[in-house]
Amino acid sequence: MKISSSISLKPFNTFGIDARAERFAVLRSEEDLRAILRANIAPLHLLGGGSNVLLTKDLPGLVLRNELKGIELESETGTHVLISAGAGEVWHDLVMWAIDNNFGGLENLSLIPGTVGAAPIQNIGAYGAELKDVFEKLEAFHLETGERMVFKSEDCRFGYRNSIFKNELKGRCLITRVWLRLTKSPRPNLSYRILADSLRNKGITQPGIRELSETVMEIRRSKLPDPALLGNTGSFFKNPEVPVQLCEAIKKEFPDLVAFPLPGNEELVKLAAGWLIEKAGWKGRRIGDAGVHEKQALVLVNYGKATGKDILNLAQEIQADVKEKFGVSLEPEVNIW
Ligand code: FAD
Ligand code: NAP
Repeated sequence: MKISSSISLKPFNTFGIDARAERFAVLRSEEDLRAILRANIAPLHLLGGGSNVLLTKDLPGLVLRNELKGIELESETGTHVLISAGAGEVWHDLVMWAIDNNFGGLENLSLIPGTVGAAPIQNIGAYGAELKDVFEKLEAFHLETGERMVFKSEDCRFGYRNSIFKNELKGRCLITRVWLRLTKSPRPNLSYRILADSLRNKGITQPGIRELSETVMEIRRSKLPDPALLGNTGSFFKNPEVPVQLCEAIKKEFPDLVAFPLPGNEELVKLAAGWLIEKAGWKGRRIGDAGVHEKQALVLVNYGKATGKDILNLAQEIQADVKEKFGVSLEPEVNIW
């Protein structure tokens, strides 16, 4: 396995930020992992597709890009299948593999960039589905103890765009393989109105998983910038969960506030961060080459030469303004390095 020196990370992060890694290597096998550990280079930065990181500086130590591959059908019953995938598989390729085999559960998560191994980090979610809904277990390597560990769903402490790997175990475990339980008799999840409406507009009343996946992809392509054309990491901030009273207070002044109940929680509601940012006047604005996307204010973009610090400054200005105007704190969803 080759360890390169002073490598530009521009092709390896979807913001297209031109930060450098002191050392850089690609992980393709168990032997590679052993060689990396023997080399004992610190700090170690674990990278998948780079679609959820903001690089604010050159990185000392070693950036390790995960390309552990392989999709397996592990076992099946009359109703379900258990599948596993190497952490370096492209997430959307796994979704397409499941759809080709008519295994349901991943279709609403179509076209999310990045790797399988990063999916548990923030419990990826879209259109009313989350990774945790189909998650069985994962295998990881503890980088400090060298221990090989298995995490079941409850061990991962999945939450809204959150898990133990974004908290106590942040940067400390290398996820190597993920197991998912998919269904042989899929039932469409149409809880998000835009998805139900789009299918209805196409005259589809009983969508199969392929139609659902295609519709999700159409919506995403119409709203989200393609990172290959305009650098971005999708939603920069999480949707904030705020006390009902604060939501009601904002609604008095802004009756069109977009808010959603949180199932099983009567004290908090989820606000659409994109609405708050847009209402604060940021949609479509730019400071130098760092900007707020014209169609979706939750997405920050790099118009070409923005540095990670430029994007971070813009994010901080937005946070301060939204706090001042609405009393709401926005928390980044993106991992800031
Ligand atoms: P990276 O950005 O490479 O890494 C993210 C974090 O995970 C880092 O902290 C990294 O150290 C860690 N990590 C990566 N791999 C491993 C591993 N094997 N073991 C341990 N740690 C690891 N997210 C959603 O949830 N829903 C969406 O709908 C969605 N839409 C998006 C749309 C666009 C256009 C873009 C650009 C991003 C979107 N995202 C979305 C965010 C992103 O795609 C996901 O968070 C994705 O899971 C990140 O995968 P990655 O491989 O690129 O991770
Ligand atoms: P949207 O449909 O314009 O909706 C705005 C926000 O309202 C979303 O963020 C979503 O929250 C929430 N929402 C909508 N319908 C809901 C419902 N029935 N119940 C609960 N909450 C509801 O959003 P969008 O920006 O086009 O994104 C569509 C989906 O793709 C969302 O699920 C979003 O999370 C996901 N997405 C994620 C990223 C990312 O980088 N994380 C990027 C693009 C899209 P949630 O975000 O909590 O679902």
